[in-house]
Amino acid sequence: MKQKYFFIVLTLLLTSLALNSNPSYADFNTLKPTVLNLTESGKWGEGYAFLLEDYKENGSLKTLSAILEIESYVGDTSLMLGHAMTLYEESLLAREPVGEILGTYYLGMVYYHLYDDEKASSYFNQCKDLSEKYGIELGNSLSHYGLGLIEYSYENYEPALAHLEAAKSGFDDSKIISDWTLYAEFISYNAFLIDFIDVSIENINTIVSTYQHENWPMRLNTLWDAAIYLNSKGYQDQALPLLEEAAELLESSDFGILSTDITAYLNFDLAYTYYTLGDFENAAKLTLEDAYDYNVKEDVNRVEYLNETLRSLETRDLRETSERQANIITAIGVFLGIISVGTLIIIKEYFKIKRLTQEVQIKSITDGLTGLYNRTAVIEMFENDTHQIKALGVVDIDDFKMINDVYGHATGDWVIKEIASIISKALDGFGYAGRYGGEEFILVIENSHPSDPVELAENIRETIETHQWSSDDIFIPVTVSIGIIRNKTHEFDDAFKVADKLLYVAKNSGKNKVAHVDQ
Ligand code: GH3
Ligand code: MG
Ligand code: MG
Repeated sequence: MKQKYFFIVLTLLLTSLALNSNPSYADFNTLKPTVLNLTESGKWGEGYAFLLEDYKENGSLKTLSAILEIESYVGDTSLMLGHAMTLYEESLLAREPVGEILGTYYLGMVYYHLYDDEKASSYFNQCKDLSEKYGIELGNSLSHYGLGLIEYSYENYEPALAHLEAAKSGFDDSKIISDWTLYAEFISYNAFLIDFIDVSIENINTIVSTYQHENWPMRLNTLWDAAIYLNSKGYQDQALPLLEEAAELLESSDFGILSTDITAYLNFDLAYTYYTLGDFENAAKLTLEDAYDYNVKEDVNRVEYLNETLRSLETRDLRETSERQANIITAIGVFLGIISVGTLIIIKEYFKIKRLTQEVQIKSITDGLTGLYNRTAVIEMFENDTHQIKALGVVDIDDFKMINDVYGHATGDWVIKEIASIISKALDGFGYAGRYGGEEFILVIENSHPSDPVELAENIRETIETHQWSSDDIFIPVTVSIGIIRNKTHEFDDAFKVADKLLYVAKNSGKNKVAHVDQ
């Protein structure tokens, strides 16, 4: 399982460190102190608005890089994608090496959050190549850092640590690390990472309690990550005070025009913790469902935004063709990516399990080709149906072997699917249909259906006979035979035997017929 949530702040911190460590960067990003001041006091939105305004006015690449920094703080992948691409492309045109390096690094981070690790690696490696080409150490450390995150997400801890060490030594060697506070934080945080690997609860608690630095985003994320870890290990009582403190910190924050507000994610974790501890009142207050709805809405908007961004980027020559083809994958990825942002293991796991359970249920009762119920499901439903069942029908395609032989198996499959859909439409929700076997269907009509069952069957037969069955302008004769009984029993076998006999009556009397008997 991937554990990307853990790295967000570490990423940012390391980015800040790396950025501080290079003279070209110090020159490149003159806006950094302003950005840091605002984010460290929780004023993300204010900082962001300030930068956007500035960027609109002067179109500066430095401003763009600062914008990306804030977007990465709140994990806004869709905004990051467009901006990182612009930063990279425009730096390329303007021959601005630091911008190129940062552009590829952020692109790598975007794809990392979108779970497209292949693309992420390729951008990180590009970042490394650029750093060699221009002799700027920054790119080397950043690329090691990104590659380390990818390894960690696959639980390849040793290579992950090797990359992180390599990244760190790049910063160590740098002669101009002026911000020692940040550096110390990085070391502590790295220790925190190692403790994660060792799964030591005591160590985590020690780090959280001793790690009382003033850097707002760092404190928030230390608390949050530790709480998530404790929650996942079943220590909700220990997670709770950490989350409450994190929530207090977040309460004093302002996201302004930024589309991401990580409060909803934190509230979800908090609600989950209360819920698990049996404090339903507090859990309810935080409205678990609302938090989720909020996220879904946001994510839907984000996917739309991302698609728009991608469309506008498509027109640019510099984009690789393969990226153009990745629209849909990326759009799906962004959904997952956004949810993963902001330490979201619990919400993710919860909904993943819920969705997987539903998927398994759905798969086990439906027929893959037609989406109708499968044989087992339809029998079970028939036997447990609390509604009065009006009739049971068996539908079999006439001379289907010939259709397969003459028009091919794929056409045969298509005919099966079309017939399934015609049958479903005819039932109109007042009953259900199943695929009994190859080209044979079961029709269960409930009492609530307004039509007479024999008329309904006749209707289905006629609809199929007169349907436009053609493929590449070739007419295909498709008809069905139906055996149908008015039902009095919930014993499937008894009812089916009669319906099946009637089907053969229909077949023997020339096919394309409905045979019925009133039982
Ligand atoms: P009858 O009118 O007497 O029902 O004749 P028929 O040809 O429809 O019946 P038969 O049972 O001889 O052939 C049914 C054919 O359906 C044989 C099988 O290969 C084909 N078939 C079964 N399942 C599938 C499927 O999923 N896809 C396709 N394309 N063909 C299938
Ligand atoms: Mg047949
Ligand atoms: Mg058959």
